Amino acid sequence: MAIDPTLPYDENNIFARILRGELPCKKVHEDDHALAFHDINPQAPTHILVIPKGPYVSWDDFSARASADEIAGFIRAVGQVARDLGLVEPGYRLLANIGRHGHQEVPHLHVHLFAGKPLGPMLAG
Ligand code: AMP
Repeated sequence: MAIDPTLPYDENNIFARILRGELPCKKVHEDDHALAFHDINPQAPTHILVIPKGPYVSWDDFSARASADEIAGFIRAVGQVARDLGLVEPGYRLLANIGRHGHQEVPHLHVHLFAGKPLGPMLAG
């Protein structure tokens, strides 16, 4: 079920629990500002989620409230993961689902990184 983006940050959302170490993840990258791990239900041969460590619901929330260091750290982490996984030459896709129309299910900002095969048209359906 898609989230209501107007609700305040839910400290018990799945990604907050992963960040606190209460739930496991298959980690691929961690630094001061970001964590990246494999999606539990991959939609492509490579499907990574990159999340900021701070309590941000969405891209607009993050861009309004996060510090310049947090924003730089998160953006750099996405690129670092792409480079580390050898995805620059074959290419990859980034996607952020936000709010109801974006069909966001987990109310902690995350960027999906898809790769590993030609990914087809940008939007299906
Ligand atoms: P979204 O619709 O953009 O909010 O997508 C949420 C994503 O989180 C989905 O692709 C889920 O498969 C993924 N997901 C949910 N729970 C976990 C988890 N515990 N570990 C890794 N990925 C998860």
